[in-house]
Amino acid sequence: MLRNVAHRVLVVEDEEDIAIPLVRTLEREGYDVLWVDSGQKALDELQSRSAEVVILDLGLPDMDGLEVCRRARDAGYEGAIMIVTARAGELDRVVGLDYGADDYLAKPFGLAELQARVRALIRRTSGANGHGDGIDEGALRIDVAARRVYAGEDEVPLTGKEFDVLNILAAHRDKVVSRGRLMADVWDENWYGSTKTLDVTIGRLRQKLESVGVSERVVAVRGVGFRLEGSTPDA
Ligand code: CA
Repeated sequence: MLRNVAHRVLVVEDEEDIAIPLVRTLEREGYDVLWVDSGQKALDELQSRSAEVVILDLGLPDMDGLEVCRRARDAGYEGAIMIVTARAGELDRVVGLDYGADDYLAKPFGLAELQARVRALIRRTSGANGHGDGIDEGALRIDVAARRVYAGEDEVPLTGKEFDVLNILAAHRDKVVSRGRLMADVWDENWYGSTKTLDVTIGRLRQKLESVGVSERVVAVRGVGFRLEGSTPDA
């Protein structure tokens, strides 16, 4: 298991009530956790020692979390950044702006959910050194020109909309694509109201991918959108 290796997690959060249980939970999971309460301290910390995952609050006393995210990337930080915010309404906008974050979580969040996200981020960032979960029997292959999808050798029969959704998610593999973006790109740029049809399409797409044993998964990011995650064929 990955947790035998002490992966470093940097928690950037100014509220003690949120930070302390978070730090305890992550430490219990075996992570090497460091907690700072301002954006500047986070940037200083990343300068001296890197971290595999940064859990970054948006509302910090000295600067906006997005600014921290941007500066960390500018300074060459290549680990994962998960943005955490109580400003849930802003998530959609934040995702669209692409400050270089890898994941987003709205407060209040469950610690179990957070753990799962951190684990997924670490799996992704350390995927290159062979700690993966196994063999890619069902590696997903998309033939965009022919609009056909294969799991290994087998074709996955998808409807037009299912294909479009998958194709967009695959183009942003391991990143969140917002509901609004999917609705606008796949259905109609003038969509209003319900995104129920999107959920139905995603549900069928998931079932089809699972039924052929594809190793990638379509993951719902609550309140934001969806992400295709799983094995990435080496480039
Ligand atoms: Ca805060």
